Amino acid sequence: MSETSHPPLTHLSEDESLFREQVRQFADERVRPLVSQMDRDAKIPRDLIDACFDLGLMGIEIPEQHGGAGAAFFMSVLAVEELARVDASVAVLVDVQNTLVNNAILRWGSAEQHTRYFPKLASGWVGAYALSEAGSGSDAFALACRAEDKGDHFQLTGQKLWITNAAEAELFIVMANVDPSKGYRGITSFLVERSFPGFTVGKKEDKLGIRASSTCELILEGCRVPKPNVLGEVGKGYKIAIETLNEGRIGIGAQMVGVAQGALDHAVRYSQERKQFGQAIAEFQAVQFQLAEMATRLEAARLLTYNAARLRDAGASFIKEAAMAKLFASQVAEFVASKAIEVYGGYGFTREYPIEKYFRDQKVGQIYEGTSNMQLAVIAKQLLGRMA
Ligand SMILES: Cc1cc2nc3c(=O)[nH]c(=O)nc-3n(C[C@H](O)[C@H](O)[C@H](O)COP(=O)(O)OP(=O)(O)OC[C@H]3O[C@@H](n4cnc5c(N)ncnc54)[C@H](O)[C@@H]3O)c2cc1C
Repeated sequence: MSETSHPPLTHLSEDESLFREQVRQFADERVRPLVSQMDRDAKIPRDLIDACFDLGLMGIEIPEQHGGAGAAFFMSVLAVEELARVDASVAVLVDVQNTLVNNAILRWGSAEQHTRYFPKLASGWVGAYALSEAGSGSDAFALACRAEDKGDHFQLTGQKLWITNAAEAELFIVMANVDPSKGYRGITSFLVERSFPGFTVGKKEDKLGIRASSTCELILEGCRVPKPNVLGEVGKGYKIAIETLNEGRIGIGAQMVGVAQGALDHAVRYSQERKQFGQAIAEFQAVQFQLAEMATRLEAARLLTYNAARLRDAGASFIKEAAMAKLFASQVAEFVASKAIEVYGGYGFTREYPIEKYFRDQKVGQIYEGTSNMQLAVIAKQLLGRMA
C-alpha cells in the first residue's frame, strides 16, 4: 500500500490484527463449549467473566495507569464482533462495560473517579448503564426516577427496567432527575455502587434471546449516593445519555455483525456437509446465491460499523453513521440468521443445532440502545439539519 493512500476500512493494523486473533481464539476455545449451557441456564458463569477480565476485554479503553489497555474504541468493536460470532450474550456483557460504562466515566468522570473506579472496572467489577424505566424507553428523558439533594448526598427514588449486566454488576450509572420542573435539564448521572443503602437489583427477565445476558429491574428506595458520585455536572445527565448511546450503538452494530458472521459461518459449513439429490447442497446454485447474498449484506454492515468506529476514533462526526450502522447491521443480522435456518432446513429449526439461537439473539439489535425507528429518527434529523 502506498503511503498516501488511505488503508481500506477492513484493513487491520498489526495491533488490531493480533488483538482480534486473541479474542477469536478465546471465543472459540473458552466461550463456544459453554454456549448451549449458558443459553439454557440463562447465566454466564463467573469463571468466564473473570476470564474476560484476565484477557483485558473489560477495560479496553481504560488508561494503562489505571490497569486498562489504553486502547482505541475500535478495539472494543473488534472484541464485541468476535465474541458475538460465538455468543451474543458474552458480547453484550463486554460491550456495555466498554462502550457505555467505561466510556462514560472516561469522558465525564473526574480524575478522582477514574482513580477510584477504573482499577476495579479493569480487574473484576462489572458495570451497568441504567437509563430505561417501565414508562420511558424511546422517550428516555421522560424518566421518573428522582434524585433529591440532601446536602452531602443525593437520595434516589424510583425504578429502572431492562438493565443489562445488572445481576453481576458492582457499579451502575443511574440517570435520575434532580428537578422535574426543568424537564430533561434536570437529568443527572450518578455512579451507584451495588452496596449503597436503598439499592436493590430486582426481577431478572426471561428472554427470547441473549438469554445468558442478565436483564434486570433496579429498585431505588431512598438510595443514598454521596455527592462525589455525581458523574459530570448536575443537570447534564441528558447529554451524557445521548452522547454515550451515540457511541454505544456502534458496539451494537458490531454485535449484530458478529451474530451475522457466526450464522453465515455455520451455514457455509453445513451447506458443504449436507447431501441431497446425491450431492452437497452447496453445489446447487440457488444455495450458493443465498450464501452470496448473505455475505454481501454482511460485508456492507461491517463497513458501516467499522467506518463509524474509525470516525469516532478520529474525532470526526459520526452520529449519523453510527445510527446507520446499528440500523442496517441489525436488519442484516435478522436476514442472515433467518436464511441460515433455511440452509439448515428442518434441522435449523431445532435446538439441537446452533443456528436457531442466532435467530433468537439477533432480534434485540432492533430494540436496545434505541429502536430501529429511533435510529431512523436520528438519521433523518441529521439529514434535515436538525439537532439529534
Ligand atoms: C434485552 C434488553 C436489554 C436492555 N438493556 C438496557 C440497559 O442496559 N440499559 C437501559 O437503560 N435500557 C436497556 N434496555 C431498554 C431498551 O433500551 C428499550 O427497550 C428501548 O429503548 C425501547 O424502549 P421500550 O421498550 O420502552 O419501547 P417503546 O419506547 O415503548 O417503543 C415501542 C415501539 O414504539 C416505537 N416508537 C416509540 N416512540 C416512537 C416515535 N417517536 N416514533 C416512531 N416510533 C416510536 C418504537 O420504535 C417501538 O417499535 C434493554 C432492553 C432489552 C430488551
